[in-house]
Amino acid sequence: MSMDQGARDITIPAGPARSSARQLGPLIGGALALICLAALFAYPRLERAYAIAIGDRDRATLDLAVQNLRGALDKAEVLPALLAERASIARLLRDPDNSGLLPFVNEQLRQTALSLDVSDVYVMDATGLTIAASSYRTDRSFVGRNFAYRPYFTEAIAGGIGRFHALGTTSGERGYFFAAPVIDGTEKTGVVAVKITLDDFEATWAEGATTVIVQDMANVIFLSDRQNWHFRTFGPMPEAALESIVTTRQYPVAALRNLPARRERLANSGYETVTFAMADGGSSYIMQTGLIAAAGWRVSILSPLAPAQLQAANTLTIALLVALFLLLIATAIWQRRIQLEDRLAAREDARARLEARVRERTAELDETNTLLREQIEERVRAEAQLRRTQAELVQAGKLAGLGQMSAALSHEFNQPLAAVKAYAENAATFLDRGREGEARENIRLISAMTDRMAAISKHLRNFARRPQDKTGPVLVHAVVDDALALMAPRLAAAKAVLTNTLPDHDLWVIGGRVRLQQVIVNLISNALDAMEGVARPVIALSLAVTDGRVKLMVRDIGPGLSDEALAQAFDPFFTTKPPGQGLGLGLSISYNIVRDFNGRLTAANHPEGGALFTVELDLSAAPDKIAAQ
Ligand code: ADP
Repeated sequence: MSMDQGARDITIPAGPARSSARQLGPLIGGALALICLAALFAYPRLERAYAIAIGDRDRATLDLAVQNLRGALDKAEVLPALLAERASIARLLRDPDNSGLLPFVNEQLRQTALSLDVSDVYVMDATGLTIAASSYRTDRSFVGRNFAYRPYFTEAIAGGIGRFHALGTTSGERGYFFAAPVIDGTEKTGVVAVKITLDDFEATWAEGATTVIVQDMANVIFLSDRQNWHFRTFGPMPEAALESIVTTRQYPVAALRNLPARRERLANSGYETVTFAMADGGSSYIMQTGLIAAAGWRVSILSPLAPAQLQAANTLTIALLVALFLLLIATAIWQRRIQLEDRLAAREDARARLEARVRERTAELDETNTLLREQIEERVRAEAQLRRTQAELVQAGKLAGLGQMSAALSHEFNQPLAAVKAYAENAATFLDRGREGEARENIRLISAMTDRMAAISKHLRNFARRPQDKTGPVLVHAVVDDALALMAPRLAAAKAVLTNTLPDHDLWVIGGRVRLQQVIVNLISNALDAMEGVARPVIALSLAVTDGRVKLMVRDIGPGLSDEALAQAFDPFFTTKPPGQGLGLGLSISYNIVRDFNGRLTAANHPEGGALFTVELDLSAAPDKIAAQ
């Protein structure tokens, strides 16, 4: 598993979307249906309640109407009997042709009608003929008219109190007639009648929003503030009634048409609802009825039902709005809850996925870890193997170097040895010849030669001591001098020029003296190899100190490093030399040696040509100074 894979996005899907709308739709629909059902159920009840309230409110109006009517009738009822007591009337009945009395009585009756505020007062003889009347002066005078067909007359002449309501045949006015007999001694000589009109009541009723109707026993509407309802029948008319109406000429028969209406009892109340089917009054009312028993009248008040309907509709509308509002709030709350649940579920889901992912990744990481550990172990093993091989190779390299060096050394030793032999033989010859001074000179030369050989062998000792070589402060000059001394024969053989620009003062670096020397020997040796075809080989040694690091540079004027060599020069066994001449180990070993000193060995081509190798090491204080510290 690569790191790229490890860093891939962990996307957290929203989780299974539990559609809130899907759950909420039927609920809202159900609630709305319930509300509608409730409204349908509530409306008739509300309407009835408001209708009852209206009925209750208008009951007072009805009671008042009943009382007023009853009062008016009661007041008029006693009048005929009182008037019949008048002597003048009895006298006139006895002497109807008395032209002196008649005008007096007539006028008296007119005055009486005015003062009693009744429509008419009139006197009939025993045949029903009107002989005097309060209306004697008017066009519609009752005088001369016979009312024997009216029940009030027949009832009165029979000795009782006559009462009757009818449309006046003379006046064309609806009126209530009361009559009482005039009793002269024991004889009933005539009848006094009083007519009252009730139009004023109708005028009063008309002022209200309600309609008042007064029906008689035949269900004929006798009084109403609705003029066009007069004499209409409201309810079935008894068979006998029509006959009586015709004979008594009570109402104009042509007007007796039924008022089409649908009547229903209003549940839980004493009221009725009435719906008229007529063009002019096709509306509904709530009806309640009071009785005026003496007159045989039923007084009904009709209160329009429309306000109750309106009120019910208003109330229901408000209730509906409130319910809808509550539903809306409930919906909002519900939706919020569902959303919250969804979000929680999604979060839970995401967490679970994340956990699973983490588990999965942990497992992968564990696996990778194991793999890495195995790889590391293998690396460690390989490294150990490499080190072992390297150590072996170092040894092999050293042996190769030793071989090279032995050749050089034998050449180096042979020359002085030959010289020593020659000088020794010369010294012997000079001694034989007694030339002591020359013999001494030759012996001094022999000594000098052995000194030189001793110096060479000292360097060899240093080389041999290598495995015990310790890491610590090393004097740069000493190392360079050792290396140069070792390389002196090869340098001389190659006729190479060595320019050494190292500073004069002592410089200490951290390293191992012999190993460092080996590195420098190797670099110089490589430089000489590279300049094999160069007529006048030059090796430049220089040194720079920066930031606590010492850079020792070895430069030649050879062909420099190829690109391949630049990339691989430090790899073991990389060599461009023909077999038998190069092992390809020198730079690899040198590199590791310098690295062991916490240093760096780098290769580059000098801008002016030739290879430039740099050994970079830590600058150190002098060992005595370190000891002082
Ligand atoms: P060897 O000398 O046995 O080949 P080294 O590790 O010392 O092994 O060198 C590796 C190679 O680096 C050489 O074969 C050569 O190609 C290249 N090289 C080393 N030093 C120089 C130099 N001074 N100039 C040019 N090439 C060099």
